[in-house]
Amino acid sequence: MLEISIIKCLSDNYSYLIKDKKTNLVGVVDPSEFEPIDKEITMKFKRLDFILNTHHHSDHVGGNLELKKKYKSKIICSAYSKNSAPGADVKKNDGDLFIFGDTVFKVLHIPGHTLDHILFFSENAKVVFTGDTLFSLGCGRIFEGTYQQMFESLEKIKNLPKSTMIYCGHEYTLNNGKFNMSIDKENKKLKNKIADIESKLEKSIPSIPTSIEEEIETNIFLRCDSTKIKNNLKMNNSSKLEVFKKLRDLKDQF
Ligand code: ZN
Ligand code: FE
Repeated sequence: MLEISIIKCLSDNYSYLIKDKKTNLVGVVDPSEFEPIDKEITMKFKRLDFILNTHHHSDHVGGNLELKKKYKSKIICSAYSKNSAPGADVKKNDGDLFIFGDTVFKVLHIPGHTLDHILFFSENAKVVFTGDTLFSLGCGRIFEGTYQQMFESLEKIKNLPKSTMIYCGHEYTLNNGKFNMSIDKENKKLKNKIADIESKLEKSIPSIPTSIEEEIETNIFLRCDSTKIKNNLKMNNSSKLEVFKKLRDLKDQF
């Protein structure tokens, strides 16, 4: 069993404290900064065995060194990074496993947002940490990779088991939802999801986690083969990749 606590960091980042209930091992995924994570560890866990980084951006590794110094944690990060995560101990390649007590994570390389981006997926815990590649109702900006790489990375995530719960790097869901509604207007599930998110955010409850199944039904970047979306974009004869490019460009200007 894996216990996950959501820690709000910076303006709209989420870091995740994870605990393997059988062994009491504790880890953090993408520590944006030291203080809020240290506070939670001091209150609840008293230890931090591992730090996991999805990619090298400072809002995902900002707490690495201070946390490592205080808790003697091991830092697990991407093997594809030139400027690797600060304090890196173990670098993971596509397909590598990370054994976290009773919980087994598989690492997948998902370039696009950055070239080093990886995800941590656990089939037994039914969770995936997607960093800045897949958000709820959206996807990350393409900073280092190509459209094709980002599209293929999203396809990899789309192919995970439908019941997998998704924990992503930012609370961008509502704004993403507004963009999706501007194009996928007739999508009832999208409309319902946005209403649900609005009521959660009003009560300061994160819109995360979401699930693979929900995202396939509502996230426009996973719906590039939808006839309705193609129609609305007047791209009936275009490929999925062309539709994805168009959507990503439109979102960048939204
Ligand atoms: Zn990023
Ligand atoms: Fe980020």
